[in-house]
Amino acid sequence: MRARTNKQIRGYYTALLQAWGPQHWWPAESAFEVVVGAYLTQNTTWTNVERALANLRSAGLLTIKGIRTVSVDELERLIRPAGYFRQKAKRLKLFVAFLETNYSGSLSRMFVAPTERLREELLNLNGVGPETADSILLYAGNHPVFVVDAYTQRIATRHELLREGAPYEEIQGLFQEGLSPIANSSVSRDRSNELTLAEGFPSTAHPPSRMSTAKRPALVQIYNEMHGLIVGVGKHYCRKSQPKCDECPLRNFLPSHK
Ligand code: SF4
Repeated sequence: MRARTNKQIRGYYTALLQAWGPQHWWPAESAFEVVVGAYLTQNTTWTNVERALANLRSAGLLTIKGIRTVSVDELERLIRPAGYFRQKAKRLKLFVAFLETNYSGSLSRMFVAPTERLREELLNLNGVGPETADSILLYAGNHPVFVVDAYTQRIATRHELLREGAPYEEIQGLFQEGLSPIANSSVSRDRSNELTLAEGFPSTAHPPSRMSTAKRPALVQIYNEMHGLIVGVGKHYCRKSQPKCDECPLRNFLPSHK
């Protein structure tokens, strides 16, 4: 059963990558921009995050020093488009204070820490849940952790890979186990860059960015890409109500199709 599940997860990756090509997550020019985006994206759309990031960038504050030195009032004003701006401003301030205290204000130093230890540290920060911690670890720090979001959970449940309400770490373990063999296979030799989006697909891909095109280990690239592909499925097909299974590239994996 587990072997079949693993094969199915690999099947998702291959089918989606061949259909849509690279999704270019995470759209950012620096690791710190990924961190800020991971905080700002909580409970809002990416379009709103982009507006807040643009404000920070124009003010010359999208840096560790910028967030550390800006006043809370000004930070709140700049990130207001992302919603929950008071809470998010406070949390960003806490993150840079944590970085300063524990890693001399250096993300490079922080990301050298072992994955499990750093994940625990991030999870202990106010406002950082597993999805935010893993987004930071994977997309900013190239740590091999798969980011589980609501779409991943929904697809796995609808395809009967997991029971409803399965905990985050169980879903993560399932996808990591399923995807990791691809890192040693020919699929990982990034054919993705040769593929283009299928005509008619309402894209959720981002334009290539410095972070999305950076070199990274094969497994990290696979986790990176899979998360972006799953977002595409969730946004366009696997909606909360009235999923569009007939048009979905994953329809052949539905239990009713087997
Ligand atoms: S839309 Fe249907 S086929 Fe596609 S992932 Fe969701 S449940 Fe599966």
